[in-house]
Amino acid sequence: MQLYKQQDIKIYNSLTGKKDLFTPINDGYVGMYVCGPTVYSNVHLGNVRTFMSFDMIFRYFKHLGYKVRYVRNITDAGHLENDADEGEDRIAKKARLEEIEPMEVVQRYTVDFHTILNLFNFLPPSIEPTATGHIIEQIEIIKSIIDKGLAYEVNGSVYFDVLKYNETNNYGKLSGRNIEDLIHNTRALDGQSDKKNPQDFALWKKAEPQHIMRWPSPWSDGFPGWHLECTAMSTKYLGEHFDIHGGGMDLKFPHHECEIAQAEAWNGQTPVNTWMHANMLIMNGKKMAKSTGNYILPNEIFNGNNSHITKAYLPSVARFFMLQANYRSVLDFTNDGLLASEKGFFRLMEAIDLLTNLKTDSTTTFDISAWKQTCYDAMNDDFNSPVVIANLFEVVKFIHQIKEGKATITESDLKLLRTTIDSFAFDILGLENPSKIKDNSGKLEGAVELLIKMRQEARANKDFALSDKIRDELLEAGIQLKDGKEGTTFTTN
Ligand SMILES: [Zn+2]
Repeated sequence: MQLYKQQDIKIYNSLTGKKDLFTPINDGYVGMYVCGPTVYSNVHLGNVRTFMSFDMIFRYFKHLGYKVRYVRNITDAGHLENDADEGEDRIAKKARLEEIEPMEVVQRYTVDFHTILNLFNFLPPSIEPTATGHIIEQIEIIKSIIDKGLAYEVNGSVYFDVLKYNETNNYGKLSGRNIEDLIHNTRALDGQSDKKNPQDFALWKKAEPQHIMRWPSPWSDGFPGWHLECTAMSTKYLGEHFDIHGGGMDLKFPHHECEIAQAEAWNGQTPVNTWMHANMLIMNGKKMAKSTGNYILPNEIFNGNNSHITKAYLPSVARFFMLQANYRSVLDFTNDGLLASEKGFFRLMEAIDLLTNLKTDSTTTFDISAWKQTCYDAMNDDFNSPVVIANLFEVVKFIHQIKEGKATITESDLKLLRTTIDSFAFDILGLENPSKIKDNSGKLEGAVELLIKMRQEARANKDFALSDKIRDELLEAGIQLKDGKEGTTFTTN
């Protein structure tokens, strides 16, 4: 029997405001869409946290035996600087500032995004579609919404008519905003806008002459509104009605509210059963922002090159740290928190290492099966990873007791314990096996020895420029060479 038939998952649904029992639309299948990054800068640590939560959720569904189609898009066009359909396209702006092609910006930061997520041991999604790869689909949806009378064209741009939609539907049902408040609180039109009402949003924008990223359409040479791409890509790959849509809390309004409106206007049914939102990451109690210096790039955690941390941390330690908070809670990123997580992470990994040589007995003094179910119960309760981790530490105590002769375990229970820990620590939480990390450091040693030898040869040839370059660049990578009487040694930080 498939595991999912034995485990009932409850998920906090932003649409209903409570934990609902998860029932997939097609038995045995899960369709999940998560709004991906806008690739105009290095991936933000807060976004890493959001994607990590959905990576864990993806992993859990897979572990339970579901066939999961996980779609996470790349936004490579259409995301303007501000939510009111104004300002420059974020990617085009970066391209202008750096004097490169917009697609060079997209390529650079898509590679950065994948590199960072790989370091954090993310599983790749099933499909990773791009907005620019789905312009035709977006145009077709706009045509259909215009035909239904819920969008209008003005001067080559097309806007969604929120008030008209709200006559028969409920705009605001996801974010809990009501239309009257929105009308009161939305800034008055500045005379520049073609919108009938300020709360309307763009489905298509006519491109200004200087705008490079443009596509032909029945209305103008232009580009799609940001919200539309997710409606096009989610429904193309998951169907008009699918199981789960996720994203960061900041996307609930207007982005996800607009997605619901577009999909309902287009095909008359609500697109998604369960809306999930991951909470924010702050640093040292404050919002993370480049402008204030309260900021850290993900790779600075791994190399320690940031004044907010006292040392470099393994990606798995940072991952462990993030998963020690529930995905719906605000997480405060601090050096003290990381230090504590590092200690805990290594305690857990050492206990897992002990399992390979543990002595077995004729009885077990701990109920492994009941403990195993508590791990499932925690995941079934809206993917409560901190409780899973607390349960893992329960068993760490037991492992030490066996080692000290204060508790016993049978051969078959040991096997069960091992497979359960492996499932939860590695397959579901996505932590990395430290023995794999040890292997890597062996490889590093070989590579550094080779560079030391090359440096010696350079010195023998009086090529001091090269020998200094090797030393300096290794130092930059966190490897310090020390010349002594016995030869050159190295240390890593
Ligand atoms: Zn989206």
